[in-house]
Amino acid sequence: MKLLRVGEFGREIPVVVAPDGRPLDCSSLYRDFDTAFFRDHGLEELARRTTELPEIDISGLRIGAPVSSPQKIVCVGLNYVTHAQESGQPIPSEPVLFMKSPGTLVGPHDTVLIPRGSTKTDWEVELAVVMGKRASYLGSPSEALSYVAGYAISNDVSEREFQLERGGQWDKGKSCDTFNPLGPWLVSADEVPDPQSLEMKLSVNGVLRQHDSTKSMIFGVEYVIWYISQFMVLEPGDVINTGTPAGVSLGHDDVPYLRPGDVMELELLGLGSQRQVVEQG
Ligand code: ZN
Repeated sequence: MKLLRVGEFGREIPVVVAPDGRPLDCSSLYRDFDTAFFRDHGLEELARRTTELPEIDISGLRIGAPVSSPQKIVCVGLNYVTHAQESGQPIPSEPVLFMKSPGTLVGPHDTVLIPRGSTKTDWEVELAVVMGKRASYLGSPSEALSYVAGYAISNDVSEREFQLERGGQWDKGKSCDTFNPLGPWLVSADEVPDPQSLEMKLSVNGVLRQHDSTKSMIFGVEYVIWYISQFMVLEPGDVINTGTPAGVSLGHDDVPYLRPGDVMELELLGLGSQRQVVEQG
């Protein structure tokens, strides 16, 4: 199944794409695709009840992030060797974790705002994992994929001066307004048999900047979920950004940071595509 949310920011309604490709309005069954939806086995129930749902014409409607109000967004830093190298950082011996404000979530085609005072706003195409069940102290990585609701494209937009030159911790450069386009869909886990084989691309103004595959992750999805669960409880609906490959502006003097008017386009195999125009915030 593909889940999406359409409508104005903050007033989106939940929609599921039927197996035949028709969008169906889920709002008679569910308030939203939020923590309660995933916790109360909404995905499994929805799969059984799609025949009850009316079709909805979504043409021309804004698409929002496919998940509403996650309790947290956990991110993995430096999870591709090539990106760690271009960033001038050592290859991590265990996952580097940081948090991103859930308030950063926007739709896949929404405007991305350059924060005030920023000269180093950068892009990061990533595979996002959305949790389907509460995960705490998982016994082994091999259990972890059974806790996943699905996958989506994420742009972990980052301000490098705020992140690296302004007094420690990465979160200042990661939590600015509009800094996490997500979607267009949440593709349910049963439709992504191998999350470690997804080609990923990001271009800026038509120039391909990032092109790799999730197979290049240092710590794979299973390991990352298991690892995070040793330190905090992952709740249903929580989002994990699993890291970005090489090809960002950071570390490359010949690749400019984002400027107003720039256009970012992202793709992940089987998960759709995103397009964001950049504006001054
Ligand atoms: Zn990232």
